[in-house]
Amino acid sequence: MPEKSIIIIGGGIAGLSAGCYGQMNGFRTRIFEMHKKPGGLCTSWKRQDYLVDGCIHWLVGSDPQSNFYKIWEELGAIQGREFVYAEQYGRIEDADGKTFNLYSNIDRLERHMKELAPEDHKVIDEFITAVRRCTRFVSPIEKAPEVSGLLDMLKLIITQFPLLRMLWKWNRISLSEFGKRFQSPLIREAFPLMFMPDFPMTFMLMTFAWLHNRAAGYPVGGSLEFSRAIEQRYRSLGGEIQYRAKVVKILVENGRAVGIKLADGTEHRADYVISAADGHATIFDLLEGKHVDDTIRDYYDTLIPFPPLVYVSLGVNRKFNDVPQCSGGMAIQLRSPIMIGTVEQKYLNAHIYNFDPTLAPEGRTLLTVMFQTDYAYWKKLRENDELYKAEKERIADIVVTLLDRRFPGLAAQVEMRDVATPTTFERYTGNWKGSFEGWQVTPNTWSIGKVMRKTLPNLDNFYMAGQWVEPGGGLPPAAMSGRNVMQIICKKERKKFTTIK
Ligand SMILES: Cc1cc2nc3c(=O)[nH]c(=O)nc-3n(C[C@H](O)[C@H](O)[C@H](O)COP(=O)(O)OP(=O)(O)OC[C@H]3O[C@@H](n4cnc5c(N)ncnc54)[C@H](O)[C@@H]3O)c2cc1C
Repeated sequence: MPEKSIIIIGGGIAGLSAGCYGQMNGFRTRIFEMHKKPGGLCTSWKRQDYLVDGCIHWLVGSDPQSNFYKIWEELGAIQGREFVYAEQYGRIEDADGKTFNLYSNIDRLERHMKELAPEDHKVIDEFITAVRRCTRFVSPIEKAPEVSGLLDMLKLIITQFPLLRMLWKWNRISLSEFGKRFQSPLIREAFPLMFMPDFPMTFMLMTFAWLHNRAAGYPVGGSLEFSRAIEQRYRSLGGEIQYRAKVVKILVENGRAVGIKLADGTEHRADYVISAADGHATIFDLLEGKHVDDTIRDYYDTLIPFPPLVYVSLGVNRKFNDVPQCSGGMAIQLRSPIMIGTVEQKYLNAHIYNFDPTLAPEGRTLLTVMFQTDYAYWKKLRENDELYKAEKERIADIVVTLLDRRFPGLAAQVEMRDVATPTTFERYTGNWKGSFEGWQVTPNTWSIGKVMRKTLPNLDNFYMAGQWVEPGGGLPPAAMSGRNVMQIICKKERKKFTTIK
């Protein structure tokens, strides 16, 4: 039998992953990527002598103990890679210089929190005990839920009962709700800032558990190098990738996806089509909204995407050896809030890459600052080139001034400035409203364990992969989603799903 063919739209982590597993399972796959490089959001870009990193702060699965490690290994992403496990994942500094250090080691974190806020020892105990419990859990990811049977489900419930019980309890509490239980003003305010305030506590508990287990490190060399390793793996498995190839239409015949049309007018056909591109564009543009039902409509009407970012990068002629390494960044409280778009910012969320010398020339350091902002403001502003550029300059000036207050002398040492806005993210990756991670998960919108459909109504031989079908987003779910889709296709083709290391 000739091998069956698969077209994959998008060469981000999900698309590359789908491609790798497709090749491992004897399909002929082709990825069409509109950008000129792989990785999608998992990227870096050159500015003068600096490499601006645009993504990874922590990679779940960096350690062989972690279940995600196997996936990264199969994708060739992790072999030989050096990881940094910072003593502090992050830190939050209030305007008076008081600091809440997010130590990766739980015992150290517990001691520190109790020193900072002895009055909160009870709630600290509750939090730390829950994190300790999570360090023992290994969530099952080997088999896609879509191909799991009743027996698998029963096995899951029996073997993972303690984990499911934990999820049940903590999924219903958001970070900001839990933060209110602290009396210490610093921890109370800082707690929701560690991730997204509306995230369920489960994310926080699992994150600290991964950090404690040294299972979520920062890969030296940054995000593009990481993506390129998967691209190389894909090519070495015989996969084909075409860059600067924007898909404008998914071809459908008799209720079956049969191929794609590119912006240059060419058409390409295959037995299956997987879209690992933006969800909204896939459903409402490439398929012209012809394959939606109430469930799909409900996702796009009610779920909340991660907000878009203004991402300021600075190349600074200075080392920051005296500043603790924090791959998750430091949040510096501002004496008076600033406005980015229409969103008030009370903190400056800075990443000082003093843990990755490959991003800057000798003796210099890359700094990035992330602001969550609103899409509509930037979309409108982008219509006027002059105003848009001026606003970017204004923001860069503000960031330099504020950082100079914290690190005196910095303003004179800045030799590279770069500002990416929500429209930059949209232009380069096509993500809906410039979102940086797909759907947010909140206690009210999505329960962990619930699976989002990867198919569309009345459309055969078509699947979706990536952050828009994995609420909560992130690199491991993107990679897993490409793998899971291939398990679904293998099942349909009555093939045994296989992986090669
Ligand atoms: C600043 C930042 C920090 C982050 N930090 C972390 C972190 O520390 N850890 C973590 O796990 N995650 C992190 N993330 C999230 C993570 O990067 C994403 O969730 C993940 O990369 C999504 O991968 P994806 O393949 O699903 O989507 P994408 O990366 O969006 O890939 C989609 C691809 O499809 C292409 N495409 C779109 N439309 C078309 C079309 N019409 N035709 C052809 N190609 C098309 C795009 O160009 C893109 O390459 C971060 C993201 C950002 C922006």
